[in-house]
Amino acid sequence: METTTMLVVDDDEMNRQILKVLFDSKYAVLEAESGEEGLAMLESCSGNIDLVLLDLIMPGMSGFDVLKKRMDMEDFKTVPVVVITSSSAMEDQVHAFELGANDYITKPFVPEIVLSRVNNVLASHRRYLTVELEAQKLKVRSELDQMTGLYNKNTVEYLIHENLKNVQVGQNVMFVIDIDNFKSVNDISGHLAGDHVIKIIADMLSSHFRKTDIVGRIGGDEFVVLMVDVPTKDIVYRKVNELIQIMRYKPNLTIPENVTLSIGIACNERIPTSYSELFHKADEALYRAKEDGKACYREYGVEPVNLDDDERQVVLLISRNRSVCSIILGNMPQEVRVVEALTLDDLKRIKPRDTEKISMIYADVSEYQKDGEKYWQEMAQYPWVDFEKTIAICEEGEMSQYKAALLNGVSDILATPLDSNAVKRRTLKQLGNK
Ligand code: GH3
Ligand code: MG
Repeated sequence: METTTMLVVDDDEMNRQILKVLFDSKYAVLEAESGEEGLAMLESCSGNIDLVLLDLIMPGMSGFDVLKKRMDMEDFKTVPVVVITSSSAMEDQVHAFELGANDYITKPFVPEIVLSRVNNVLASHRRYLTVELEAQKLKVRSELDQMTGLYNKNTVEYLIHENLKNVQVGQNVMFVIDIDNFKSVNDISGHLAGDHVIKIIADMLSSHFRKTDIVGRIGGDEFVVLMVDVPTKDIVYRKVNELIQIMRYKPNLTIPENVTLSIGIACNERIPTSYSELFHKADEALYRAKEDGKACYREYGVEPVNLDDDERQVVLLISRNRSVCSIILGNMPQEVRVVEALTLDDLKRIKPRDTEKISMIYADVSEYQKDGEKYWQEMAQYPWVDFEKTIAICEEGEMSQYKAALLNGVSDILATPLDSNAVKRRTLKQLGNK
C-alpha cells in the first residue's frame, strides 16, 4: 500500500513534534512552520499530500488565510484539512467549516482522539475518491462509442451543435462517412471481422484529423467528423482526398480489398447553422457519392468532375515503404488512378490498358543500400517505362542515389522523409505537363 503523507502546518515547534510522534509510525509526516511555507509545500508536492493538519492562529498568514487560498488551488482543493487550534470560539469553528475544513479539533487534545478523527477523515475521503473515479469512468463510458473509443452519436451531436453556435473564424466542414460494401465483410468473414474493420477505420479516422476536430461513430458503419475553424478549403480537399485514397489503396491497413469509403461533405461559411441542417446536406452529398460508384466524395452544392476509370490518368507507385506509400497516396488528386507495385518484379503484371495511361511514375530507391543503378537498368527493360515521367525517391543526402537517378534521366528527385506539399506540387506539375 502507498504511504499516506500528512502535512502539519503550525508555528509552534512543540505542537509539531507531538503530532509528528503521534502519526510517525503510520504516516509520512511533513512539517511547515507558517501558512506561507505550508502553501508553498502544497504547491510543490502537488498530489502527494493526503491530509493537512492546520493551526489557525499563526503570525503572517493565518489558518483561515490558508483555507481561503485553498479554494482556488485545483490540487489542494480536494485534500482534506483538519484544523487543530487553541481557539474553541464557536464563530471560529463555523468560519473554518465554511471555508471547507473537514474537521476541527481544539487544543489541548487527547492524542488517541486526534488519531481516530484523522483516520475517519482519511477513510471518508478515500470513499469520496472512489465514488468520484467511478463517476468519471461512467461519464466517459456514456460519452464514447464502446467499440471504437470515438464519440458516440449523442455526444457527437451535442459537441457539434455547441461548436456550430460559436463559429469564430474560417469555416466548419462536416464529413459524413460510410464504409462501402461493409455488409460483405460480415457475410463473408463474420461479425467479429466486421467489428475489426470498423475499429481499424475508426483509428485511421481519429489519427487523420486534428485533436480539436470532432470525430464520432453515429451508426453501424457510419461516422461523422466536424473539421473546426478551417482556414482554407484546400485543407478540406486534401483531407478528404487522403481518406479516399488511403482506403482505396490501403497502404498499411489489413482490410478486404472492396472495403472503401464514401464521403459526403458540407461546409458552413461563418454563418451559424445547426447540426441537423449541416448533417442533412452532408448526408445528401454522401448519397450522391454512393450513387456515383462509391470510393469517392461529393460536396453538397458542388458538381463533381466525373471521370470513369478508363478516362483517368494513371500514376504508378513503386515502393514497399509504408510511409512513402501513405504520403503519396494521400496527396494524389481525385481524378487520377494509382497503380501500386511493391517491387520492379510486379511491373510484369501491370496490364497494358494501365501502362498506356501512365502519366507519372514514383520510383522509390531510398531503401537501396547503394546508388540503385541496377534498379534503373532493370526498370529500363520495360518498354513502356518513360524516365521523363519518373520521379525518383532517394534517401536524403545519399548523393550516389541522386546521381544515378539523374544520369538515367529521371525528371526529378524527392528525398525521404517525403514532404506532403512537395509530393502534391510535383504531381500536379507532372500531370499538367502531360
Ligand atoms: P454500402 O456500400 O451501400 O454502404 O453498403 P454496406 O454493405 O456498407 O451496408 P450498409 O452501409 O447499408 O449497412 C451497414 C451494415 O453494417 C448493416 C449491418 O449489418 C452492419 N453493422 C452495423 N453495425 C455493426 C457492428 O457493430 N458490427 C458489425 N460487424 N456489423 C455492423
Ligand atoms: Mg456502408
